[in-house]
Amino acid sequence: MPDLSPIPFVKAYVAGDELVYVNQSFSSAAVSGDGPFTARATELITKLTGGVGSLLTTSCTHALEMTALLLDLEPGDEVIMPSFTFVSTANAYALRGAVPVFVDIRPDTLNLDETQIEAAITERTKAIVVVHYAGVAAAMDEVLAIAAKYGLPVIEDNAHGLGGSYHGRPLGSLGLMATQSFHGTKNVHCGEGGALVVNDTDLLARAEVIREKGTNRAQFFRGQVDKYRWVDIGSSYLPADPLAAFLTAQLEHFDEIHAPRLASWQRYDEALAEWAGSHGVGLPTVPAGCVHPAHMYYLLMPSHEHQQGLIAHLRERNVSAPFHYVPLHSSPAGEKYGRVGPGGCAVTDRVSSSLVRLPLYSQLTEEELNRVIDGVHSYPFGPA
Ligand SMILES: *Cc1c(COP(=O)(O)O)cnc(C)c1O
Repeated sequence: MPDLSPIPFVKAYVAGDELVYVNQSFSSAAVSGDGPFTARATELITKLTGGVGSLLTTSCTHALEMTALLLDLEPGDEVIMPSFTFVSTANAYALRGAVPVFVDIRPDTLNLDETQIEAAITERTKAIVVVHYAGVAAAMDEVLAIAAKYGLPVIEDNAHGLGGSYHGRPLGSLGLMATQSFHGTKNVHCGEGGALVVNDTDLLARAEVIREKGTNRAQFFRGQVDKYRWVDIGSSYLPADPLAAFLTAQLEHFDEIHAPRLASWQRYDEALAEWAGSHGVGLPTVPAGCVHPAHMYYLLMPSHEHQQGLIAHLRERNVSAPFHYVPLHSSPAGEKYGRVGPGGCAVTDRVSSSLVRLPLYSQLTEEELNRVIDGVHSYPFGPA
């Protein structure tokens, strides 16, 4: 009997210290935000991202919303971003009345196509948002050069990229701000959580206020002011310390989470190269100088039919291998709140309708890997 036990697409990792830390946090007096575990997690995030400073948030979505507040966006302002991303990348700016301007992605890295950014810039453009898809860096030298030419800030949606780097510089340290996700589906998680990395000291001080309901409460607790007051707009973007405790344990075990993921990623890449070459299937491209944290392994099937076919074929073997982002530019809210840049989004449409993601998590066993690889190899392409 072949083993048909389910192979999920993701499995949240537990390093072991999480509940010890959570218990410590709950039995201390400091269970609300900005307690001792928040400080520990924050330090580790700042180190991993190489940022000037970082702030723990309740999600990457909220960190993105904070970037929109920090940029003082006004209705009608425009923000350039890929359409091939999670809804939060666009939502954060649409919430301020800004218009997401969708620029196509490169067919190799699936990151914002840097050659199409300039044509999408108008007088109302206020920022460029890159998403380091699968934790592989966007073409940051080119993106930053265009941004500098027009005086625009760059935001890195680094939800996939914690621990990745670009020519030796950590992802998160390249733009004015970067956002991290600690959602249960990400490499390092606390169920729901995130962080805002800020690479400017003044902006970091303001971010701290915005995260604390628009008050200078953090300064008050540090004894820097004698009372805390409402000083700016803001909201409650601060997670409770027990969540930070869970996250601290994960961050302390970063290498233990990362190493087996990378080994599985490399195994897929080696085992599928020949098959991919002979069937016109695309595999992930990692440009020279890019180090990625093995967040995702994907296949670019030669057609939509083969995308659906492979997903169904693997499902029959109890292997969960989903497609990914549904393009934002043609989704109902994307059409209502955003607009497509002059280059269109043809690559986005093609990638979205052909991409299949393979199971990838730290606990993936040799048997599971073999079953996924055999499952892919046995997909019947049929007559061309
Ligand atoms: C997961 C993800 C988000 C949202 O993260 P949350 O922490 O769930 O809010 C945003 N952008 C990208 C690219 C993501 O993958």
